[in-house]
Amino acid sequence: GAERTKNVLILMSDTGGGHRASAEAIRDAFQQEYGDEYRIFVKDVWKEYTGWPLNDMERQYKFMVKHVQLWKVAFHSTSPRWIHSVYLAAIAAFYAKEVEAGLMEYKPDIIISVHPLMQHIPLWVLKWQNLQKKVIFVTVITDLNTCHRTWFHPSVNRLYCPSEEVAKRALLDGLEESQIRVFGLPIRPSFCRAVLSKDDLRVELEMDPELPAVLLMGGGEGMGPVKKTAKALGESLFDKELEKPIGQLIIICGRNETLASSLQSLDWKVPVKIRGFEKQMQKWMGACDCIITKAGPGTIAEALIRGLPIILNDYIPGQEKGNVPYVVDNEAGVFTRSPKETARIVAEWFSTKNDELKRMSENALKLAQPDAVFDIVKDIHEIACQRGPLADVPYMLTSSFSSLIY
Ligand code: UDP
Repeated sequence: GAERTKNVLILMSDTGGGHRASAEAIRDAFQQEYGDEYRIFVKDVWKEYTGWPLNDMERQYKFMVKHVQLWKVAFHSTSPRWIHSVYLAAIAAFYAKEVEAGLMEYKPDIIISVHPLMQHIPLWVLKWQNLQKKVIFVTVITDLNTCHRTWFHPSVNRLYCPSEEVAKRALLDGLEESQIRVFGLPIRPSFCRAVLSKDDLRVELEMDPELPAVLLMGGGEGMGPVKKTAKALGESLFDKELEKPIGQLIIICGRNETLASSLQSLDWKVPVKIRGFEKQMQKWMGACDCIITKAGPGTIAEALIRGLPIILNDYIPGQEKGNVPYVVDNEAGVFTRSPKETARIVAEWFSTKNDELKRMSENALKLAQPDAVFDIVKDIHEIACQRGPLADVPYMLTSSFSSLIY
């Protein structure tokens, strides 16, 4: 029928590249599957509408993860529900007006949160506006295993979990089985539907056509022991007796320009490519044979889709810790913090232990969930259809709203 276009508001924050990547993946999948039926807005609501400290969350997050101990304390001390509820209630009271203005502007029929701190406030605003029955609210969790409890809110229409492990935690935290779906982590359609030939990619990316290739990276911000690992690989991938390389190295530094320039200034005995932020990760992954990365969920899910064995060399305490057993227990990769050990493993994979590399690659492909993002948008579409033709959502500015909570 001639239904009007529905508005979808995706709430994210640039605390780590992963949330933005998931938000954009969902947006792209909606557009591919349903075209004009949905109008999608991806918004970092905190940054655009609220004052300090919320609009400063990105900078604070980067500061905290650089000072790992601080982040550990912050993550675990906010875990008991009563602490984060009180904390968030205080913030909500202060900023609810701004959040409300954000919702007013986009008049969403559907709200999708891809951030651990974007359940409580928007859901409160909806409740106070009496819109909970009219607006669909879903959460898409972007941590593979040990996620923070603020992800779980009992009032959501759906909670999309990337793994059974996360679904179990959600059940323990009081969500109903009927609210939960396990499809996997949403990855950009350009990534999961790409049909790529390794040989063509190597020509396009000007790589050596024959030598096995290892991809070294550290998330969007180029974090973890990238430089030490690169140096160690520079040695281990060079066969001193035959005086020739046994592999080539691709280093993607993301937004870490200091790292990129300091790597450029080194001398290399093996073929190396050093890159900044790359927009076509699917190509670089498709051209390589294994990957070394910190335990970022986005990078892990993408590597699995490309069938790349993974060496995890670091993780952000708290939310990324559980990603390590997810990879290691499923035998799609290994964990080591030692750059020397990492370099040794890669050299073995490229020489005597080629069979191990192949086996891990097969295991990676078994874990991969390339259709997750499409399963998620189809499910949201079904919920929207069940509601029938949505009446125009009656967003109102409730002037009495702030007086209500003060
Ligand atoms: N990424 C990218 N270009 C780069 C570096 C990273 O597109 O140069 C992407 C990567 O493919 C992944 C995301 O950024 O989708 C990183 O997410 P992850 O969860 O691994 O780590 P985060 O950066 O969020 O800590």
